Amino acid sequence: MYQQLSFIDSGKPEPRLPVDYQPVVPEHFHLERIYISKGSLSSDDRKQFVERICRCFGEAEVIERLDTAHNKIDLGEPDPLARHRKGKRTLVFGELGDSVRFSSEEQNTCPNYWHFSPYSFCPYGCKYCYLAGTPGVWFSPTVKIYVNLPEIIQKIDATANLLAEPTAFYLGKLQDGLALDPLTAYSTVLAPFFARHRYARQIILTKSADVGRLLNLDHGGHTILSWSINPPEVVRHSEENVPSVDDRLDAMQRCAEHGYPVRAVMMPMIPVENWKTSMPISFAGCWWR
Ligand code: SF4
Repeated sequence: MYQQLSFIDSGKPEPRLPVDYQPVVPEHFHLERIYISKGSLSSDDRKQFVERICRCFGEAEVIERLDTAHNKIDLGEPDPLARHRKGKRTLVFGELGDSVRFSSEEQNTCPNYWHFSPYSFCPYGCKYCYLAGTPGVWFSPTVKIYVNLPEIIQKIDATANLLAEPTAFYLGKLQDGLALDPLTAYSTVLAPFFARHRYARQIILTKSADVGRLLNLDHGGHTILSWSINPPEVVRHSEENVPSVDDRLDAMQRCAEHGYPVRAVMMPMIPVENWKTSMPISFAGCWWR
């Protein structure tokens, strides 16, 4: 059950990790090992949160590395492709200091924007994933859950209040924004926080169809869900171990029925041979059902 956040009104920092819920293993997460890195167990709430999730993976090896930062976990695999595959089957708990940032990309068509990171990377296998080549992920391509969610929320609150105008905070730039929600229940804290905030708005970018936790939340229309979709031709060749486009569209429909603003983005744009004749027909089959 979500605990009411009063810190917005009272100035007191009260957001907490979800501690009273049942984690569910996401269908597309084939986990073999868990690392518990620096900061993961530094409070009772964190311990309880980490232990609760670890209990879901009885077969997985659990390794404590409390002296090592989340992005320094060395998988001991020199071959980049083998390391990438191993990383997708590895969960790391940690804490992230620089968790709320304004993007600073140059010569990009899209404007820069605020984004936040309670996770890094994701269990899905998109062959075009640009994150795989970024320095931190290249060294340690693991799936990460950051346990400092309350501090992340406080940073969003402070940033939005300073800006003092409606401001979007994106979850999904450096991760899939929803893929791990069945495990963490972070949505049950985040959506009500944004719902009550005067300025902050949440935009979740995802390919997940796991929207069960979202449906009965008090979101106030302040959480916008944006699904990344692609035509079946692209999905077939470039998306492994990812929820089907049909499942994503079903999830979008369910969320729309529960009052969430929803969006679809086609990203990245990948050329398909004979697209002028083949794409409209097959893609129409996907949309106009
Ligand atoms: S869902 Fe996003 S973060 Fe995950 S593999 Fe695909 S492109 Fe990368």
